[in-house]
Amino acid sequence: MALHSGASKPTRTPHTNPFALLAAPAVGDAFAVPQHALHDNPVPPDMAYQLIKEELLLDGSARLNLATFVTTWMEPQALQLMSECADKNMIDKDEYPQTAEIERRCVSIIADLWHAPNPEDATGCSTTGSSEACMLAGLALKRRWEAKVRAEGGDLTVRKPNLVMGINVQVCWDKFCRYWDVEPRLVPMEGDRVYLDAPSAVAAVDENTIGVVAILGSTFDGRYEPVAEISAALDKLAADGGPDIPLHVDGASGGMIAPFLDPDLEWDFRLPRVVSINTSGHKYGLVYPGVGWIIWRDKEHLPEELVFNVNYLGGNMPTFALNFSRPGSEVIAQYYNFFRLGRSGYTAVQQSSRNVALALSGKIGERPEFRLITKGDELPVFAFTTSEKVTGWDVFALSRRMRERGWQVPAYTFPANREDLAVLRVVVRNGFSMDLAELFFGELVAAVESLNEEAGSDKVLSGPTGFRH
Ligand SMILES: *Cc1c(COP(=O)(O)O)cnc(C)c1O
Repeated sequence: MALHSGASKPTRTPHTNPFALLAAPAVGDAFAVPQHALHDNPVPPDMAYQLIKEELLLDGSARLNLATFVTTWMEPQALQLMSECADKNMIDKDEYPQTAEIERRCVSIIADLWHAPNPEDATGCSTTGSSEACMLAGLALKRRWEAKVRAEGGDLTVRKPNLVMGINVQVCWDKFCRYWDVEPRLVPMEGDRVYLDAPSAVAAVDENTIGVVAILGSTFDGRYEPVAEISAALDKLAADGGPDIPLHVDGASGGMIAPFLDPDLEWDFRLPRVVSINTSGHKYGLVYPGVGWIIWRDKEHLPEELVFNVNYLGGNMPTFALNFSRPGSEVIAQYYNFFRLGRSGYTAVQQSSRNVALALSGKIGERPEFRLITKGDELPVFAFTTSEKVTGWDVFALSRRMRERGWQVPAYTFPANREDLAVLRVVVRNGFSMDLAELFFGELVAAVESLNEEAGSDKVLSGPTGFRH
C-alpha cells in the first residue's frame, strides 16, 4: 500500500501535514492493535484514538484510588494550558524564554513559602518529580562533603560517604545511594518509633556522613518526622566538636501542606541546618504528573561544578537536571495553580483534605475491628491496622475485598524492625470529598462484615500483596 494518497506529486508546502496524507486501510483489511512490533500500515486517527481510549478504560478509576499521592484532578482551564504547552521544551530557554521566566517565578514562590533567605534570588529548579529532585539534592550533598574532605587533606579513595535516614524513606533515596555510590544508613524502627528521631539520627552519623534526610511526611503513615528536633540535635553534635552534618528535608508531600496548614511549625529554611528541600508539584502541589521542585538554601549549597549553562537569549542560563528535554506543560500548570489559588486558595484546598482525613479516620478508629496508627492530622494521610479482636482475616484480605468493589487501598507491612505491623493506608487528595468518604466508609464496613462472617473459611485470602512505596 502506498504511503501517500493518490496524488502523483505530493505537495511540498511547509504546512502539509504528512499524517493527513497517510492512506487508511481498505475496508475489510485485517486489523489488530499492535502488541509487540509496529504493524505495517497507518489507521485513521479517529480509529486509533477510540481503540486506545477504550483499552484505557481497563485502568482503575482515579477517584476511587486511595493509594496514590499524585494529583488526579485539575481544572479544565489548567488542562487546556497544559495541552497548549505540550510542545514547549523546558530546556530550550532560548526559544521559550517566557516558560523559563515562569519556572523562575515558581522557584521564587516556593522558596518564599519555605522561608529561604533570598526568595527573589532563589537557587532551585523544576524536575520531573521528587525522585529527580532528591538525586540532585543528594549529589550536591555528596560534592560538598568531598570538597570538605579534600580541604582537610583527607583521602577520598579510602573514605566512603554515607547518607543517614529512617528506613521509612521513599525508594528514591535507595536509588540515589545505589546510583551514586553512597552507603545508605537506614535507621530501623523500634517499637512505637516508626520514623527517624533525633537520638537515632545522631547515633548513626559520623565524619563520612554527607547529610541526614528528614521526611515531611512519611509515605508509610503520613506522619511528619521531627525536623526541628533532628536539626537541634545535629547543632549540638557540631557544637560539642562532632561532625557538622547538613540536613535535607524530603517534603515530597508535606512541602506543600505545612506552609498552608502548619505555618508555625519550623521545618524549613528557618532552621539554619536545613540546606535543601524537595517537593512533588504533582502531589499536594495539585498538578498532574510529572513535576517536582528542589530549592537550596543559597548558591553556596549547590556546588558550581554541577551546574551546566545552556544558551538563553544569546546569553547563558545555568541549569541542573538529569534529563535534557522535558515538556513545559507541568511547570505552566504549577504556575496556573499558584496564580489561580493564591495562599488562601491553597490553604482551603489542603484544609478540606485534612478535614476529610480526620473525619474518616475518626469513624474508622471507632470501629472495634481497627486501631489507628495515625489520624491524618499532618499529611491528610492515615494508616490503620486490625485490633486484637480480629483473628479470622487481616488487612491484606480487606484490601483485596475493597479492590473487588473498585476501591484501591494498599495494605503493607512496616519495614525493619516492625515487620509485625501490617496496615492499610488512606491518602486523601483534592477531589476526595466528604460524600465520597461516607461512601467509602459504608463499603469498608460492608467488607468488614462480610469478612467477619466468612472468617476462617478459605474464601478469606490473606498474606501480603506486592505494594511498593
Ligand atoms: C512520592 C515521594 C517521593 C518520590 O516522588 P516522585 O515525585 O514520585 O518522584 C519521594 N519522597 C517521598 C517522601 C514521597 O512521598
